[in-house]
This record gives sequence, C-alpha cells and structure tokens, in this order.
Amino acid sequence: MNNRIAFSASVLLLASAGVVSAQEMGFEEYEPESTLVVPENPVTSARFPFVDVHNHQSGGSRMTNQSVDAVVAEMDKLNMAVMVNLSGGSGDRLKHILAKSKARHPDRFAVFANPSYDGINDPGYAEKTAAQFEADVKAGAQGLKIFKSLGMYVFDPLGRVRVDDSRLDPLWAKAGELGVPVLIHVGDPAQFWLPHDGNNERWLELKQKPRRIRTGEPSFDQLIKEQVNVYQRHPNTTFIIAHFMWMANDLDRLGGYLDALPNTVVEMGAIIYDPGRQPRHARAFFDKYQDRILMGKDTWAPEEYYTYFRVLETADEYFPYYRKRHAFWRLYGLDLSDEVLQKVYYKNAMRLIPGVNPKPISGR
Ligand SMILES: [Zn+2]
Repeated sequence: MNNRIAFSASVLLLASAGVVSAQEMGFEEYEPESTLVVPENPVTSARFPFVDVHNHQSGGSRMTNQSVDAVVAEMDKLNMAVMVNLSGGSGDRLKHILAKSKARHPDRFAVFANPSYDGINDPGYAEKTAAQFEADVKAGAQGLKIFKSLGMYVFDPLGRVRVDDSRLDPLWAKAGELGVPVLIHVGDPAQFWLPHDGNNERWLELKQKPRRIRTGEPSFDQLIKEQVNVYQRHPNTTFIIAHFMWMANDLDRLGGYLDALPNTVVEMGAIIYDPGRQPRHARAFFDKYQDRILMGKDTWAPEEYYTYFRVLETADEYFPYYRKRHAFWRLYGLDLSDEVLQKVYYKNAMRLIPGVNPKPISGR
C-alpha cells in the first residue's frame, strides 16, 4: 500500500469514527477543494516525442520481456520516445539490463552505468574504475550516472569521500574522452538542512520522512562547492546536473552557475513544483537557457508525467500537484513555445547523449 492510500484510508477511518473534527483537523488532513473556475487543459501525452533522461528501472529477475514491454506500452501513451535508465550498474548487471531492455527495443532505451566505490582507498582504484567504465560503454552504456551517495554516504577510512575527490578524476576524464555525459545527482533540497519547524517549506516531508533531516556537514553549500570544482576541473566532460542542482527555487542563482560552467546542463527530475509556482520567472529562465535544460522525471509513475506536461505546455492556472510533502501549493503553466519545448523534450538530449535518436511513436 502506498503512503497516499494508507494515509487517506486512515483519515477515512478516523473521520468515520468521528475522531477528526474540523476543529481538531491538522495540516495533513486539510485538502480543500478549489472553487476556482478557470479553463482547464489537462495533458496526458506530450506535444512532442520526448526523452526522459532521468528514470530508474531495476534489472535482475524482475526485468522480464513482459515487464519491459509493459513499460514501453506506457511510454507510448505518454509519447515518451526514449527512456534513459540511470540504474544500469556495471559489468554483468549492466549487460543483463541491456540485453533485456535495449536489445529488445533498441530505439526506446538508453542505459547509464554506475561506478563502484568499493576499494576506493586501494592503489589502482582510479585507473581500474575508469577502465571498467570504458568497458561498460563498449558493452552499450551511453553515459555515467552518479547517485547522491557520493558526497554524503560514501566513506573511506579517513572519512566522507568528497564529490571532488581526486581519485575520481580519471573517471570524469574518461567520460569526456569517450564523449558520453555524466548525469550527476548531488545532495538534497536545501530545506532539509533548515530547522524542522513551522517555517520550513518541507516540514511535512521531514515529518513523514524524518531520516531526511540533515544537520551539519556537509552543508548544502559545501556540496555545491565540491561539484562545481569537478565541473571546472573537467571542461571537456558534459555534466547533466540532476534536479536543477536543487536550485529550481532560486533560478537566478542556478543561471549564474550555468553561465560560469559551459560544460553543464540541468534536468528537471522531481522539481516541477518549483517552476510551476513562478510561471513568469520560470518561463524567462526556460527561454534564456533553452539549450541547457532536459526533460527528466525520476520516479516511474506514468500518470505523474501529466503534471509535467501541463506545467510546460499550458497556460493553466492553479492546478494541483500530486505529492503534498513536496509542495502544498498549486501550480501554473509556463506555456512554453514549441521551439523551446522541442529542445527541452528531445533536441538537447539528442545533442548530448550519443545514440539517442527519438523517433515519432508509430500509430500516433
Ligand atoms: Zn533518480
């Protein structure tokens, strides 16, 4: 049972038992139905075929011909031409995922490899890891994905492994040499470091997921600093920074980084609630950085893409988001031009990820 169902079921139970009265109801139960009457243009399929550069499909025995075909059927409905699976792993695991998914639907999947940090303190780790990545690309990987464990949860005997640890330099350089991008997720939303109190926009998330509360080092800004060091040190490597660098709530600051770091672009996984609350400022940002933004979603829940399409494509006002702990506010459409939409949906991904070649989905 997912949290949402569990939650509404418990509210129903409490309500039918007469426990939650309007006077006692808390923020989590408060879900007012909007009385605003405005034009509504929900979108269930993207205007152009798109590349989702941030998706996760785990391999192993759960990835079967049937499960892969079912994903492709859902992709067709969304007009998703290509899914980038960032959970490719390495070595045999990667080969299995490629055989199960990409070999079966060559045009519809791209798979990114993930490095291992095991033995990071051993002599030869750096060269071995870069060589493994080269072998993974030979096997069919089209990029490298770095999870947020780097900088937060990877340790060696001396302590936390920094994002800009020099033992990873050969890996970043190898990606540049091979001409494939690195999609990198560093850190968490800045609000996770703020006091967990009534002034915190992510209070509900930190209440529901208390392990996400972060205190002390590395701070949000420290993690920004470390990743920027990497981007500066490797100007010949393309970095796709996940989640708008967790700066979708401060687009001017993000623009400053994009201006200073020409080898970087951003993808919008799990942050659509931020552009969607600042439609004019965000549209200006998308117009200005139209060559630097990629479509991505992260969690594979097909109906949640509708909200992304509606924010990007329409001029709708005050429509709901789907996860209250991310955003208790409603959203507005950016009404992007077709030219910008096409870049964000597929042209930028085609330019940056070798072998990604989205085609119109047949029957559409
Ligand atoms: Zn992800």
